[in-house]
Amino acid sequence: MSRLGHLEQAYQITQWYPKPAVYDRDGWHAFPYLDIGEFYSEYGSFEVSITVPENYVVGATGELQSQEQLNELIELAETTAAIPSFNTSDKAFPTSATTTKTLVYKESNIHDFAWFADKRFHVLKGEVQLPNSGRTVHTWAYFPNHNAELWQDAIEYLNDAVYYYSLWYGDYPYTNCSAVHAPGSRGGMEYPNITIIGNNSTPMALETVIMHEVGHNWFYGILGSNERDHPWMDEGLNTFSEMRYFNTKYPDNKLYPFQLKKESQAEFLGIEEHPYPYIHQMLYRVQARRNLDLPITSCSEDLVGTNYSAIAYSKTGLSFYYLKVYLGEDTFNSIMQQYFETWKFKHPTPTDLQKLFEDHVDEDLSWFFDDLLRTDKKLEYKISKARRDKILIKNKGQLQSPVLVNQHRGDSTLQSTWVQGFEGKQWVILDLDIDADRVSIFGYTYPDLEPDNNSARLNGLARTMESLRIQPFGAIEDPNRTTLNLLPAIGWNYHNGVMLGGYLYNDILPLNGFEYSLMPMYSLGSNEFAGLGELRHNFLVQNSIISRISPFIRARQFSYDESPGSYYQKLNPGVIVRFKRKVNSLPVDNEIQLDYIHATDMSAHMDDERSYVRLHVRQTNREIVSPHQIELMAEMSDGYTKASIDLSYKHTYIYKNSLDIRFFAGAFLNRSSATPSLFNFYSGGTAGLNDYTYDGLYLGRALDPTSELFVSNQFTRDEGGFVTFNPLANSEEYLVSLNVSSSLPIAKNIPIQFYVNAALLGERGLSTEILRDEEPYLYEAGVKLQVIRNLLEFYFPLFASEELQDYLEATTDTYLQQVRFTFNIDRLNMHDLARELK
Ligand SMILES: [Zn+2]
Repeated sequence: MSRLGHLEQAYQITQWYPKPAVYDRDGWHAFPYLDIGEFYSEYGSFEVSITVPENYVVGATGELQSQEQLNELIELAETTAAIPSFNTSDKAFPTSATTTKTLVYKESNIHDFAWFADKRFHVLKGEVQLPNSGRTVHTWAYFPNHNAELWQDAIEYLNDAVYYYSLWYGDYPYTNCSAVHAPGSRGGMEYPNITIIGNNSTPMALETVIMHEVGHNWFYGILGSNERDHPWMDEGLNTFSEMRYFNTKYPDNKLYPFQLKKESQAEFLGIEEHPYPYIHQMLYRVQARRNLDLPITSCSEDLVGTNYSAIAYSKTGLSFYYLKVYLGEDTFNSIMQQYFETWKFKHPTPTDLQKLFEDHVDEDLSWFFDDLLRTDKKLEYKISKARRDKILIKNKGQLQSPVLVNQHRGDSTLQSTWVQGFEGKQWVILDLDIDADRVSIFGYTYPDLEPDNNSARLNGLARTMESLRIQPFGAIEDPNRTTLNLLPAIGWNYHNGVMLGGYLYNDILPLNGFEYSLMPMYSLGSNEFAGLGELRHNFLVQNSIISRISPFIRARQFSYDESPGSYYQKLNPGVIVRFKRKVNSLPVDNEIQLDYIHATDMSAHMDDERSYVRLHVRQTNREIVSPHQIELMAEMSDGYTKASIDLSYKHTYIYKNSLDIRFFAGAFLNRSSATPSLFNFYSGGTAGLNDYTYDGLYLGRALDPTSELFVSNQFTRDEGGFVTFNPLANSEEYLVSLNVSSSLPIAKNIPIQFYVNAALLGERGLSTEILRDEEPYLYEAGVKLQVIRNLLEFYFPLFASEELQDYLEATTDTYLQQVRFTFNIDRLNMHDLARELK
């Protein structure tokens, strides 16, 4: 459940009573339930009575009214503090008491009330003195055994969060601040005075979630902005405070302990040096470098998928950090404290916050409020030349915002100065007195696009070049180095035998301008070179209906069959044009792909080469419940032009159960009589033998699909999408086909589906006497086992129309020969996976 409820006998009671919509300056705010974006509610005074069985421990918003019940909690806290080690595997619920108790809570100036009850709760209690008023706030942690080892330190995290937020923004106005662990819930969720925290695996992760959720008492709780309309006002300012908290409390903080337990694991991934804020730069860049980012001021509904965290949280957090460093800590704090004083227990909007900044700062802040906040313009300055006394900075982005220039010696930063924003290029004079040996712009807390051109040495050769690092399993960009990732590669297919080589690629995340992935191998079976590779460049386009243009070149070479010296080669230059999304709230992507394919196959019996031009127009809707895709294709080669439409639609009718429908129609627009039947439309999709453009990787490309070797049963379920193989069921005219598959209600956890296929074929490609009498219709049905969806799937035919059945009986001896499988190993391309991240 996205907003809690209960897990067995543990209760998380939130959003549990009817709330009136807020009426403010903009009128009524009624809105539907959405998975993302918190609620917008009115302030009030609450008195809540909760009656539960006697042995439930309750954590709630507000102040517990009974001193006796409060003493019981304090006693429980003393007991918990004395426990030397927790039995984390004991998750059992004690039996509920038959008698009940009633707890009464009161609080004012809050806009929500939440409560949590669990019979297994341990309790810890602490207190913190507020920095401005000196008042004491009581902090409470409630947790069952599950993560109790981590929760022993929860009071420290609560105290520090309350302290720092009070220091920076204004004193916490309530008496109690609590955090509750609800095993099974996700992440964390904020309510006035109390926050609920999900499972965590490291101390740093728990500290991050606790301090973040406690921080929402300020941004969302006390400053009641509308999160549906302006998610950045609470999530973004809170993320900013999160980076501030770590940089203040732990000046040498690192990112990896957030999820990893050991430094060696971080070294393996090449991320051991990055400080905590790097996660937010990464998240922003993952979206911005694909040109999928939206303005910070977007509403929750528009920020689908990764954009919600990348924009509402990360980009906002980084942008406010930028503003804070630019204005200086004191100016920034005093404005934020004014914001707190002016707008506490009210509903501030973005213009209210902007007005406070503009009233208190003499300079023009339009680069921040107009551009960084309200557009997707990219911040991207580059150091293009470095001399002893000056550096040349080039603005490659669209944002003319101030540039922070840092001068370093060794690991220490000697001086940081601001240069006003500019267009084009500008020389910046360095301070020679401080004797720096390196210069950099910005750092880890800024939303800039490309970090790899932000640093230069002030002596030696190739000053703007980064050092190189070879990494066994890198995936994440290192802003200070050029990483070359190298893995051993091992491959196998029937014709090449075992292949050994390497897999060489550049960082996967975020998307790079230039990308390469190369897998050269040596085939031990055929004693030849084999392998594949791709080079690609992604150009982002700003202010256009086009989002990015990606020219690429792909090549591959493998043995064609078993005869010595036989191989095929494919060279495929092309370009993909991706368009901007029209409606931000819908994850619909449109793209056009143009390919030129030159295929050569040097087999003993054939010595052929051929070129093809292919155009794809693709629309992909990645929504969760009913994703669908439309693909139009046209292909031209010597002697023919053919075109097709391929529609696929997945309808999820129960969680994880779906009806998958695919429609295909293809026809030749022209075709000379000499065109071989190889180019026809096949009802049974593509196997190694008719993959004339060498798009797939087949384990036994040249094997007869009816052979007894199981690897010969691999196919790609395109064109007609039939499972039953029949080389005669192809058409030189047209093919129309419908593939339907559905989960079976009987087997919930076994990934099997029932499938039915039907096709209509035009003029057959092979005109034998027998075929002339055949019906143009084909149909079949069977069961499909999805081992990995769209990657490894097995198909078991159950029945088929007469022609297919006759062919099967004539060509196969065992049922196993009729079972076919898909193994789309080329779908495992890591760059592709990163490109298509939701
Ligand atoms: Zn949050």
